[in-house]
Amino acid sequence: MPFWYFSTEFEASHLGQALVEVECEKCGCEYYFELARQGVGHVSSPYGIGTSKAEAVAEEKAESNLNDRISSEAELVPCPSCHWINEDLVRGYRLTKLRGWSTAAFSIAIIGIAGSLVATWCIMNGPPPDRSAAPMVAICGPVISIAVAVGIFLLRNGIRSAIRPNKNFPAPPKVPAGTPPALKFDDDTESFVPIAADDIRDSETGGWQTIQIGRVEWPQKCCCCLKSEEDDNTELELANPTTPELGILACKECRRRQARQSNIIGLAMTAFGSIVVYSIFSLLLPREIAFWVLFVTGVWIVALICFYVSNRLTALAPTRCVDASRGVHQVKIKNPDLILTVASGAVAS
Ligand SMILES: [Zn+2]
Ligand SMILES: [Zn+2]
Repeated sequence: MPFWYFSTEFEASHLGQALVEVECEKCGCEYYFELARQGVGHVSSPYGIGTSKAEAVAEEKAESNLNDRISSEAELVPCPSCHWINEDLVRGYRLTKLRGWSTAAFSIAIIGIAGSLVATWCIMNGPPPDRSAAPMVAICGPVISIAVAVGIFLLRNGIRSAIRPNKNFPAPPKVPAGTPPALKFDDDTESFVPIAADDIRDSETGGWQTIQIGRVEWPQKCCCCLKSEEDDNTELELANPTTPELGILACKECRRRQARQSNIIGLAMTAFGSIVVYSIFSLLLPREIAFWVLFVTGVWIVALICFYVSNRLTALAPTRCVDASRGVHQVKIKNPDLILTVASGAVAS
């Protein structure tokens, strides 16, 4: 019987921030920090049934995932006067690590148990001599699946509890990339201000800058030529369509120039690579049909790699992910005059 299955996938993502108040367990110092998280919701609607509802459900799931994360997770922000990191912050930070492992453990347990039961049923309905194996499968299958799942949980907890940022206390701890600065309330300006400088603002080197999604506000300008939409003939679009959540903008003109450069470099590299592939295959194979099939396949692979590399080389704002769970990325700002500012969320209010 032919079996045809398709489903429509819906994915929603919500961004949120909260201002967290901390009272240091060691010295009683009070400070704040901004917790930024991204909640995601994923819904799959089989055969495209109920797609209108699925979209709303994905949105709801993203919102509840965001609320869960904001209320349970934390960042390792040390006390500005004694460098201690409160135990509840450490616990909250540990939750951001290996978040997918509990789903994996549950899936292994459920699939393993279900699979063992189906296998047992098949054996019971199979040839009589095999039936003696049924109790073995019915018991061992679930036991092994549960043991693997428990093992994954224990390993995850072990890795999480190895995160001990206070181990060198009272020396200042080494905090993860993208950790927000400690804030204090400034009575004069009636706003929250960073006690120590946030590393996103004092690097004017044009090198890699660490940013956390939700805590940085991108200027509404092209990241390359700094033109804004108020300038003539300037239309801004995403500079990195593959990471839209970063919101880095570039003007159409700069994007077009980058595409041109990328194509020229990609073509030149592919031409050179094709000559190399041709020479190597010529040495190894007689020029028959197999030679040409391998040569064309080789050129395709070389072209894919060359265009990927040339696109990375010419990228207007190259980015790399540092910690996906906390939304921490590094971005290389090529124009040193582009100044990033902290998000308008809690800090500016
Ligand atoms: Zn303290
Ligand atoms: Zn531009």
